[in-house]
Amino acid sequence: MNLELSTDQKQIIDILVKQGNVNLNKPRGKVGFTRNTDADDLLDDISGHPHAFVLGCVMDRQIRADRAWIIPYRFSYELGGFEFERLLKLEPDWIRNFFIQNSLHRFPNRMADNFYHAIQMIHQKYHGDAANIWAGTPMSATVTRRFLQFGGVGPKIATMAANVLVKVFKVPFADTTYIDISPDVQVRRVFTRSGLVGEKASNDEVIYRARELNPAYPGIFDEVVWEIGEGWCRPSNPRCGECCLHEYCPRIGVG
Ligand code: SF4
Repeated sequence: MNLELSTDQKQIIDILVKQGNVNLNKPRGKVGFTRNTDADDLLDDISGHPHAFVLGCVMDRQIRADRAWIIPYRFSYELGGFEFERLLKLEPDWIRNFFIQNSLHRFPNRMADNFYHAIQMIHQKYHGDAANIWAGTPMSATVTRRFLQFGGVGPKIATMAANVLVKVFKVPFADTTYIDISPDVQVRRVFTRSGLVGEKASNDEVIYRARELNPAYPGIFDEVVWEIGEGWCRPSNPRCGECCLHEYCPRIGVG
């Protein structure tokens, strides 16, 4: 396969894939979506409360992630628990009022509807057990498609959900071929500066570049590139000397 990569680019990819695999093979971790231990404990409990993780995914849209992911816990606190049967009894109007009165989301009406319909879908399609979305060692495309069926969930969140299930929760999948990279601001910066994509690359190009570079698991780059972007490759004054890519990185656009 000729990807027309320079020797330095091959080294960069090698470092990123190796570190990605180190992250992948770490023991089961714990999610840290919010800055609230109780809320994170609820999201982390995918065997006892798998619907909390799914509803968190559904809420993760157009507001700060920690604010979105705490919404299941806000319900749990109000209801005195987050058992699925408890959620199933909630009326759409009650959910809408709860969103509005507690300023849970920037788009309270729409997101309240998404919350309600997600509960109904888990009930009808997954027999009240959201873990059926990823049960039975499914294909990555199947899990991603199932998340896409929830109202308000687009490819970015569906991909993130599949990535978290594989990397953090260690859920067995038949493959990782269709788990893409999420081209957030950190990923775009590192990919651009290290020359893996051009300075004007679209998000779609970043996604296809990751597919091209590691077809078996394009999302392998997600966490490691995000960590480089957050830790060393800062928007201004990047700490190139301490970065794991410094020996091979062309530092495109860095002053
Ligand atoms: S070497 Fe510098 S420019 Fe390249 S990825 Fe690392 S921090 Fe960013």
